[in-house]
Amino acid sequence: MEKVRHPNIEKYFAVGILVSVVPVEEMEAQRNQERPNIILILTDDQGWCDVGFNGSRDILTPNIDNLARQGVVFTCGYVSHPYSSPSRAGIMTGKYQQRFGHEYNVPYEPDNDKMGTPTDEVFIAQLLKKTGYRTCAIGKWHLGDNEKFLPHHRGFDHWFGFSAGGMNYWGIPQNEGGRLKVRRNDELVEAKDITYLTDDFTKETLWFIKENKDSPFFIYLAYNAPHAPNQTTQHYLEKTSHIEYGERSVYGAMVSAVDEGVGRIDSMLTLLGIRSNTLIVFLSDNGGRVESADNRPYRGHKGMLFEGGIRVPFCMSWPEQIPPDMRYDKPVISLDLFATFLSAANITPNKELDLDGVNLLPFIRGENKEAPHNILYWRVAGGEEYAIRKGDFKLVKSAYKNKTFLFNLKVDEMEINDISSENPELFAEMGKLYQEWNNKLVMPLWTDPHLDNVKKEQKALLDTRTKSMSRTENK
Ligand code: CA
Repeated sequence: MEKVRHPNIEKYFAVGILVSVVPVEEMEAQRNQERPNIILILTDDQGWCDVGFNGSRDILTPNIDNLARQGVVFTCGYVSHPYSSPSRAGIMTGKYQQRFGHEYNVPYEPDNDKMGTPTDEVFIAQLLKKTGYRTCAIGKWHLGDNEKFLPHHRGFDHWFGFSAGGMNYWGIPQNEGGRLKVRRNDELVEAKDITYLTDDFTKETLWFIKENKDSPFFIYLAYNAPHAPNQTTQHYLEKTSHIEYGERSVYGAMVSAVDEGVGRIDSMLTLLGIRSNTLIVFLSDNGGRVESADNRPYRGHKGMLFEGGIRVPFCMSWPEQIPPDMRYDKPVISLDLFATFLSAANITPNKELDLDGVNLLPFIRGENKEAPHNILYWRVAGGEEYAIRKGDFKLVKSAYKNKTFLFNLKVDEMEINDISSENPELFAEMGKLYQEWNNKLVMPLWTDPHLDNVKKEQKALLDTRTKSMSRTENK
């Protein structure tokens, strides 16, 4: 199914026909006045199947599902990297992050002004701010810890959150040798002023919405939930008391905290009468974390280039412009959000931006029946791992498996059957297409322990499997 055409779809497109009779100046003014608020909600390490709208049965997400019902679910929504920091760099710039060397997690070195997304890369918030949007970043940043890389120096009027990759949910400085603290712009926030980080991020979002309800705003709400550490409250644990697996029940409670936050934000927008002209996107920064998350029916997890590492829960709603109850099945990628937001805000992208993402609105509306992308690419660890998807075929070079696979996702969405030996020409062609793209990339500006982690994880998996065959093991 490509997508469901909403019975009232003409209502939505009549707007486009009507404005053509309005004089241009008037139309521009009208558009400016009507520019939508934009809220990008990013979760951290949430699995593809850990939302109701993708089929979760144990973790219930009624508010996120309600958001999805108000617009379109991208059933094949990808991110550009299987883990955090590079994925976020892609979202912020609308470009494959390997083009500017942001290919690993940023090491926590706040005194080092080279460790962060290069400042000559343009962030979406900068363009929105320049054209009159009030802009705000809340939550996890992970794009550099030095002052010059922080959100309030990269296009955001306001910032509340923490700069690095993980944070104690009670705001206690335990991460990065106790150096990492929650901040509000230039001020440190003491742990005594934090209740539970997920709730605090929601509260700050509600405050910013109320403060800026009369002007268009852009909020980047990057919850660190349900990323480790496993910390939650009694209130949320009650929502997963039916889950009989300890880590899964805590992880589910952390997802429930996000879900409650999404519901409160949706209600606030409705109460203020601005929900219908607010574009909200919800997605995860990478596949679900190993053991706690559920990425089924896809293979693998966070860190891997199998579908479970890069295909994420992904939906978009904008009641004034996108009909409800839609599903879009062609591949889209998080890089598309940049161009989509610019279009929604009536900003024509400067060609010098040289974006990789495309504006998704014409595709969602059925005005463009083509696929948004002919080819999608991934590169990890400077090319030690890579993947390319063209049509239904996907080539995956995996460091976990020390092997390059070819899959036909149309008949094998679980990536079980490697068809490379039966299709040597296609295998070679896909490899060539990857190399052509790879030639345009730069070397990573820094590294992280990903490849060491890959080895450890693969060894643990193999040891577990080997041990199971031992006849001397007793319970
Ligand atoms: Ca993540």
